[in-house]
Amino acid sequence: DYGLSEADPEVRAIIDKEKERQFRSLELIASENFTSRAVMEAVGSCLTNKYSEGLPGKRYYGGNEYIDELETLCQKRALAAFHLDETNWGVNVQPLSGSPANFEVYTAILKPHDRIMGLDLPHGGHLSHGFMTPKRRVSGTSIYFESMPYRLDESTGLVDYDMLEKTAILFRPKLIIAGASAYPRDFDYPRMRKIADSVGAFLMMDMAHISGLVAASVVADPFEYCDIVTTTTHKLNLHNQLYLLPYFQSLRGPRGGMIFFRKDPVLGVDLESAINNAVFPGLQGGPHNHTIGGLAVCLKHAQSLEFKAYQNKVVSNCRALASRLLELGYKLVSGGSDNHLVLVDLRPMGIDGARAEKILDMASITLNKNSVPGDKSALVPGGIRIGSPAMTTRGFTEKEFKLIADFIHEGVQLTIDAKRSVSGSKLQDFLNFVASPDFPLRDKVSD
Ligand code: PLP
Repeated sequence: DYGLSEADPEVRAIIDKEKERQFRSLELIASENFTSRAVMEAVGSCLTNKYSEGLPGKRYYGGNEYIDELETLCQKRALAAFHLDETNWGVNVQPLSGSPANFEVYTAILKPHDRIMGLDLPHGGHLSHGFMTPKRRVSGTSIYFESMPYRLDESTGLVDYDMLEKTAILFRPKLIIAGASAYPRDFDYPRMRKIADSVGAFLMMDMAHISGLVAASVVADPFEYCDIVTTTTHKLNLHNQLYLLPYFQSLRGPRGGMIFFRKDPVLGVDLESAINNAVFPGLQGGPHNHTIGGLAVCLKHAQSLEFKAYQNKVVSNCRALASRLLELGYKLVSGGSDNHLVLVDLRPMGIDGARAEKILDMASITLNKNSVPGDKSALVPGGIRIGSPAMTTRGFTEKEFKLIADFIHEGVQLTIDAKRSVSGSKLQDFLNFVASPDFPLRDKVSD
């Protein structure tokens, strides 16, 4: 049996190039992070060989005694990480990722064409919360369910709860979804609970982007108010740089998803059996046991002081970045950030996010173009989204995050120049600088 270098040098070479790209770039995509060696070891293990349809103790295949032990351990750790009591909350750790987890919830509690309300995608929501355009039902969620998204108040950049309430009373959704992919503030769960109760709807939170902040109690706790909470396992959330104990770097998760549900019936529905059945046999087959192994590893230390310290740093680094961008004259959606991301509205600068993303990418500054409220096009949106988790994992502090803001500013200035086609050579100078040993952050970026 050969290793990858001998068996497939072509794929090995691609992986090496990607590793080098990750190593050399300033990774600022809000939904990405660096997983740990321990998680990778679990994900690359023999657990991948095993079929185990069903749940611990109730499988459709033999030979699952250790897989049962693993999945039970993972469930216990997931509940502990979010301070949940096993008598009131349960969890399914089998969802293959965030979008399947959400669709599994919809399958569990809704009938086709039932009505749902999630945050609109151009206002920071996720595709899987029911995105549609006037011409097309884009996501499976909007194809199979009737979606009426709620939006931000464009003058404040905050969720317009008054409008959500008015619309909910008219639309009468069966499910209201909190959570977002590009919202720099906390959700008002008590208000959303009240709205959901007034129309007899379930309240679900998709905490994919902020679950680490939730586990570390750095942001409001959605479990107090929601019936169901979903998450991915590979974003900011459960990834941790245990920088106080560098030999103990075992908390950054594999790609996957989880669904937490209340054990008591809600609106007459037994969420536990409805959700477990929606995952399997509803929408999935055999669980990815190697992922569940990696997830169990990353959940192990989610209650540690080091984990909390990391999550606090993610937020303080993000605030430092936001305050420097404000000093430099940028307009931020909602005026700042309470979590791990900032959303910069570049339209006042006369450029779009797509151009800025491209130019910054050339300088190994990796972030993404993003819609901002009032945008006309999702392909050429007016903003960029910048996240602090990954570079916090690599040890960056507030000082470096302010420098990052300066670099982004330089890139944006060059984007403005490039748009005016004034100075190609200035751009080249900037790119040469970033590639040179004088690039100030270069020595900080180590494995
Ligand atoms: N939910 C939210 C809030 C997200 O931001 C994302 C992905 O970015 C997802 C769900 C989907 O996760 P996945 O890409 O793992 O399907």
